[in-house]
Amino acid sequence: MAAPQIPSVQWAQVIEKSGGPTEYKQIPVQKPGPDEVLINVKYSGVCHTDLHAMMGDWPLDTKLPLIGGHEGAGIVVAKGELVQDIEIGDYAGIKWLNASCLSCSYCQTSDEPLCAKALLSGYTVDGSFQQYAIAKALHVARIPKECDLEAISPILCAGITVYKGLKESGARAGQWVAIVGAGGGLGSIAIQYAKAMGLHTIAIDGGDEKRDLCKKLGASAFVDFTTSKNLVAEVKAASPDGLGPNAVLLVAVSEKPFQQATQYVRSRGTVVCIGLPANANISAPVFDTVIRMINIKGSYVGNRSDSAEAIEFYRRGLINVPFKTIGLSELQSAYDLMKKGAIAGRIVVDTSR
Ligand code: NAD
Ligand code: ZN
Repeated sequence: MAAPQIPSVQWAQVIEKSGGPTEYKQIPVQKPGPDEVLINVKYSGVCHTDLHAMMGDWPLDTKLPLIGGHEGAGIVVAKGELVQDIEIGDYAGIKWLNASCLSCSYCQTSDEPLCAKALLSGYTVDGSFQQYAIAKALHVARIPKECDLEAISPILCAGITVYKGLKESGARAGQWVAIVGAGGGLGSIAIQYAKAMGLHTIAIDGGDEKRDLCKKLGASAFVDFTTSKNLVAEVKAASPDGLGPNAVLLVAVSEKPFQQATQYVRSRGTVVCIGLPANANISAPVFDTVIRMINIKGSYVGNRSDSAEAIEFYRRGLINVPFKTIGLSELQSAYDLMKKGAIAGRIVVDTSR
């Protein structure tokens, strides 16, 4: 095919200082290095991680100035001379994991998110809130041509992360999993993956809009953390024998649910920590954890194989991402809503406006 026209300047959302705001402006388009691709990002989901990055509330520094975004779906428009297995014109996705060394012991055993030299899109390198973004070719997500770039964009972080988390939970078809933060971006997509994997879900979040969304997406029960008088008892009661869910996926952005989950998980159950609320700790009584044989673990995005599998679930029509699209120029308004917990599902930005 004819080489695409690549402009020398583009629109982007740039954060100049920690705490924000993010500013919509024109900046130069970069050229890919020998092992990189340049992707014309069409759509990008807005993850709560992007808000953490802007606020600088994690114990890990971002680059500055910073272009956020790590759910970027678009088209490859240029590639370095070493890139062989992806072509100009292919659909591709910018994920959180922009690069890893591929030679340390973690990378060798497919645990590349744990690589100490990993580069993180929209955090330690510029991400997808720009019209043209760069990523290492070996790590970009391969997106099949029949997929819709707008609807698939949230799969590139939220989808991969919750799919991996569900696998890490060890829950098997027919079992019950509680999803905490179920009405948000990760949570609403987690309900879909859980259903596709044959699991029943107990959704936990706040407000009627999120209750309706979770039920529509297939949750078996909904517990409202803003009105519940005894959340632990209610979650247990929602499981069929009253003994609690086999697993808990914590994707909420506050600390309290991280203290509650071990109380309602079933004995021998697994609590998977995924959400990253600022300055939060997780603690559980040793006595209970031991005599009820409770498993507590973290789960962090996914490797390249998890990514391909999560995309394949989407391609097969099993995942119905609830999203609303706004212009890239309006990104700050998404952060304002996100701070208030007022987004049901995901916001996606369209980079053409
Ligand atoms: P989001 O803002 O879309 O959703 C968070 C949800 O949590 C909201 O619906 C909110 O109402 C709900 N919530 C807040 N307090 C709650 C409580 N006490 N009980 C139940 N629900 C509660 O955020 P998101 O984009 O889904 O991201 C969620 C978190 O996951 C963020 O901290 C993000 O940084 C993190 N994250 C982690 C990974 C990873 O690899 N581990 C990957 C992506 C995102
Ligand atoms: Zn994310």
